[in-house]
Amino acid sequence: VITVLCGGVGAARLLSLLQREATDFEFTAVVNVADDLVLHGLTICPDLDTVTYTLAKINNEVMGWGLVDETWRVNKELDKLGGQAWFQLGDRDLATHLYRTQRLAEGATKTEVAGELAAQHQVGLPILPVSDDHIATYLETDLGELSFQEYFVKHRHGVPVSKITFRGAEVATPTKEVLTALSTSEHIIIAPSNPLLSIAPILAVPGITDLLKARRQSIAAISPLIGGRALKGPADHLMSELGFESSSYGVAAYYGDLVGHWFIDEVDSDQVVRIEGLGATVTVLPTIMAEPTSASALAQGILSWLN
Ligand code: GDP
Ligand code: CA
Repeated sequence: VITVLCGGVGAARLLSLLQREATDFEFTAVVNVADDLVLHGLTICPDLDTVTYTLAKINNEVMGWGLVDETWRVNKELDKLGGQAWFQLGDRDLATHLYRTQRLAEGATKTEVAGELAAQHQVGLPILPVSDDHIATYLETDLGELSFQEYFVKHRHGVPVSKITFRGAEVATPTKEVLTALSTSEHIIIAPSNPLLSIAPILAVPGITDLLKARRQSIAAISPLIGGRALKGPADHLMSELGFESSSYGVAAYYGDLVGHWFIDEVDSDQVVRIEGLGATVTVLPTIMAEPTSASALAQGILSWLN
């Protein structure tokens, strides 16, 4: 059994690749909840939904988020009314948020709801929110403090950031399912998700980092930066804005002694020695998962580390 620390798209791509190519293994996803928001009274969990929709093969490849075959009638009406239409919710996608919100109101936990949605979509692996408690990312920017979705969606992650905080993380508790997964799984993989926005809020939940530090040799990570650039989203410029090198080495230095083995892209082969200097071993291989040959090379590399 292998536990994968997950944000949204980068993790969803990795999980579907592993589910397809590493059929001898079972995977558990531990997912960030600090992007979650309440809008129109609905609890929305973007990373949980991205992972669930992608594994169910109903994600929208073109948009990069949300559901396939989506329509936008509700959002258009909302826009006419002058409502909060900047955070686009598709008609099909709304059902997920209605379902989740109702179940939470009935007293279900986020973990239970994530399990129900995964089962309804016949996703073949457990999808676990890192915590059932409220955690919310806020960013200090040139425009003042922004909530995660204001930064990411309203301002299209284009505003320079000077500080990121995960409100509620320090008093949150990891769920018992997450602690069990992290302590009993043979290996742990940190997905190529945004280190500062997707993985950091998982590591900020008390108990998680200590547990991982004790297991360094069982932990591998895939760099989300290729040639210093993110394939999507703000990971590259956020690293520089917050004082880290925007490179695979920079990501490795940021995780420090949590990670025992690195998978980095071929174009970053010049960084192997520096990453080894952090006390990790390194595999250099193609890491772009949208490309079939490169994806299977990455899967083979991960499989040989697992075996
Ligand atoms: P979000 O929560 O949906 O924004 O996504 P994540 O935090 O999970 O992932 C975003 C990161 O995934 C970006 O920094 C991308 O560079 C990285 N990423 C996406 N696809 C790939 C891929 O095929 N290979 C690698 N190495 N990184 C990827
Ligand atoms: Ca996310």
